[in-house]
Amino acid sequence: MRTPISFEFYPPKTDEQRAQLDRTAEKLKAHSPEYVSCTFGAGGSTLSYTSETIRHLLQHHELEAAPHLSCVGGTRAEIGALLRDYRSLGCKRIVALRGDLPSGMGHPGDLRYAADLIAYIRAEHGDAFHIEVGCYPETHPQSDDALVDLKHFKAKVDAGADGAITQYFYNADAYFHFVDAVRKLGVEIPIIPGIMPISNFTQLRRFSESCGAEIPRWIGKRMQAFGDDAESVREFGADVVAGLCERLIAGGAPALHVYTLNLVKPTQMVLSRLD
Ligand code: FAD
Repeated sequence: MRTPISFEFYPPKTDEQRAQLDRTAEKLKAHSPEYVSCTFGAGGSTLSYTSETIRHLLQHHELEAAPHLSCVGGTRAEIGALLRDYRSLGCKRIVALRGDLPSGMGHPGDLRYAADLIAYIRAEHGDAFHIEVGCYPETHPQSDDALVDLKHFKAKVDAGADGAITQYFYNADAYFHFVDAVRKLGVEIPIIPGIMPISNFTQLRRFSESCGAEIPRWIGKRMQAFGDDAESVREFGADVVAGLCERLIAGGAPALHVYTLNLVKPTQMVLSRLD
């Protein structure tokens, strides 16, 4: 049986970005994704971009679309309104997160952690949504105790999460150890690896530092050696990421969630290498 796949997009803000997402969504639809998701930026004017994108993906592309929803910086009333909106659009799935406040934004919001958001969704909407949460095989970057971080993850499952998507990683053992550790804590929900194709290595390295994802030395060294040779970076990146996916699937990963960054080529280069 084919491993189920989902794709993550970010909400476009300009006409050019909207056209890019349309092209990407249309091409990736050929891979029959179980669903696509759209990220959420905490605070201010960005609030409406996710719901606009979700509406577009549902109505224009006829894809099952799952909004990300983060609680940081938001009031119960704002979050409640978004949830009602998503329910009336026909969304069946939500990716529930704490999120990170943009620097300079002071108010932490009414709900402190993702577990509080999940409890709120369950209290207000029962089982109307399938709830995915984030998890961190290499430990959340703000946590200095990996075991405590695992317990905080379990609290999200106890609050009602149905599935979890990992932060991206390039070391399959980190995933397998994480799955073993949470199973020992009694967590039974699917743990779906988040896959980040590699296209722009400089950007990836910068982003990985902030989100706590480790790039193994052998990958970094080879990428550095390619320098400006973008084609070699993409080809090698696709080989590495496809190899990772193969190991994960062989080791029992129940599905794959691809962080597309709204680009079609890096994702397709990985998928074309998989059976
Ligand atoms: P939580 O699970 O609440 O954990 C955050 C931190 O708090 C951890 O260090 C945890 O150990 C700690 N913690 C949890 N509970 C407690 C407690 N009771 N007491 C003390 N400490 C506690 N960000 C966005 O802004 N928008 C997105 O769309 C988005 N999508 C994402 C999708 C995925 C699949 C993943 C993995 C991450 C995504 N992120 C997104 C990033 C995410 O918001 C950040 O990593 C954020 O810092 C943590 O969110 P969380 O939901 O994992 O938080």
